[in-house]
Amino acid sequence: MGASRINSSSLMQIRNTRRILKTIHGEKGIYRKMLAEKVGLAPQTVTNITGSLIGRGIVLEEPLPLKGKGRNALALRLNYAGFFILSVRITWEEILVILNDLDGGVLTEERLPLGRGTQALDVLKTTMEGMISRGEGRAIAAIVISVAGIVNDRDAIVVEAYSLCWRQLNLRKELAGLGIPVFVLNDVNILAYYENAVARGSTDFLLIKVEDGVGSALVINRTLVKGANKVSGELGHLTAAKSDTTVQCFCGRKNCITQFITSTALERRLGKPYAKIVEEARQGVPGTLAVIEDIGILLAPKILDLIVLLDLDRVVLLGRVIEDFEDIIYPRIRSEIQSNISFWVRFDKLEVKKYDNFPRICNSFLMEHYFSEQDDFYFLWDPVI
Ligand SMILES: [Zn+2]
Repeated sequence: MGASRINSSSLMQIRNTRRILKTIHGEKGIYRKMLAEKVGLAPQTVTNITGSLIGRGIVLEEPLPLKGKGRNALALRLNYAGFFILSVRITWEEILVILNDLDGGVLTEERLPLGRGTQALDVLKTTMEGMISRGEGRAIAAIVISVAGIVNDRDAIVVEAYSLCWRQLNLRKELAGLGIPVFVLNDVNILAYYENAVARGSTDFLLIKVEDGVGSALVINRTLVKGANKVSGELGHLTAAKSDTTVQCFCGRKNCITQFITSTALERRLGKPYAKIVEEARQGVPGTLAVIEDIGILLAPKILDLIVLLDLDRVVLLGRVIEDFEDIIYPRIRSEIQSNISFWVRFDKLEVKKYDNFPRICNSFLMEHYFSEQDDFYFLWDPVI
């Protein structure tokens, strides 16, 4: 909605309402009296707006369970369960579409086998339309799409998703017909936003995902680092320390790390399907183990360099290749860090993580986005304010 179409008093009303919503979001279980003090508005204004928000089901006012005797005070909180989003995850093997509320509750979900090119896009559109109509009139506030690929998140463009054959695909334009705001993020970047929201005391960290590609995201001083092209960091295209072989990378360089450590690279190097490689690793087949040990050997010095260069406090490893060979890869990287780190670096933790709750990850990104942006941005609750 354009600010030019509304007069200044209703614009003031919207600003005040947003301010109140932000405060209630930030201060879970705040009392009315405290709310008026926090937002710095006249108590009567706060009472009027809060009353209207409660009346429309945007804010709930409930007794806080208190210990001891006495009347329980009424506390305010946002009605997260009353608002819905479509959470979409596009990986190299499937498209997952979930209709969930902002509390993480799942209404319905569908898994689509991966098609290619426009076919995948058509299937995605049809599935979303179906879910929106089955949403039975529930207002869907946003569509959040995570893509395993290179993404320009400012413009919601998939620059390259190799497995889908998507190139320079403008999803915001493609999905404009649904009439819902669309956000598109790289799959590792959205996890970085989530880590940033949930991590306590960690301000500078690196996420590395190894699957059929290598993805990475860097957070410095609690901010996701983006390059000049608004494309995420590409750790997979750092040069591998390999003197015995030369492999051409699709990016134009030679011996990129991604050419040695991904599931497809393992298949190429060992000449067998990935499932067989996993099986052989469990059996301890020496030739297979040597190639898998290479993953840790190649990754470890790169990770250590980044920790020292950027003074990181944490590194999170994720993805199928990491999970399948954790017992081989993790100790190699950990020992490299422990034995070779500069004494002034306060590195805290190397961890392997699995992210199971996708709706929560999308919710976390949205909340962060709406509550941290400037006032003139589209706001999640604007249609109902
Ligand atoms: Zn490359």
